Amino acid sequence: MLESLKKEIIEYGMLAGEKNFTPGISGNISAKCENQVIITASGSANGYLSEGDFSVIDFDGNVVTGNEKPSTEKFLHIEYYKQRPDINCVFHTHSPYLTAYASAGIPLDMNVSPEIIYCFGKIPVAEYALPGSVELVENTSKYFKEYDVILMKNHGVIIAGQNVKDAYLKLELVEAYAKTNICAKILGGAKILEENEVRKIYELRNK
Ligand SMILES: [Zn+2]
Repeated sequence: MLESLKKEIIEYGMLAGEKNFTPGISGNISAKCENQVIITASGSANGYLSEGDFSVIDFDGNVVTGNEKPSTEKFLHIEYYKQRPDINCVFHTHSPYLTAYASAGIPLDMNVSPEIIYCFGKIPVAEYALPGSVELVENTSKYFKEYDVILMKNHGVIIAGQNVKDAYLKLELVEAYAKTNICAKILGGAKILEENEVRKIYELRNK
């Protein structure tokens, strides 16, 4: 199981790298396997992962096997799994368009896209704290119960999925949405959906 998760993370990490969703050595990816988490190592590049770039850790952050230096954001990942039993994979990236919103401190909370409203509701911005810090986990984890995609102010984005492919596809979708919104601004700004239309989407979502 851990071996197949590793292969999937390498595969989707490479895809994220090719699409410029995870530049350089920024970001980290993990997947849950029962009471353990497999996570990319500190200093590894998500787009160019190899077998040695993974640590297996327990829910207290201790290394069980693999690379001795797990990502410094390991507690952010562990906290997501603790709060959300339905989540089995977490991507943290600095994808450029979502990070542009995070850097500007602007949530993606306008009712522009039926698909985004249906899939995510709103995409909030968590308050800034130093990368790798306990404060960053505190500030960001406030949103874990309610949201699968959270912008991290002046930093990047964290995305939770039911599996590796699901988390990757969410990243692809929301990164494209952020780009679309920026392009729409050049064209005079996106048109906001009417409240009654938004209500219909939320009704579909709650079915
Ligand atoms: Zn980061």
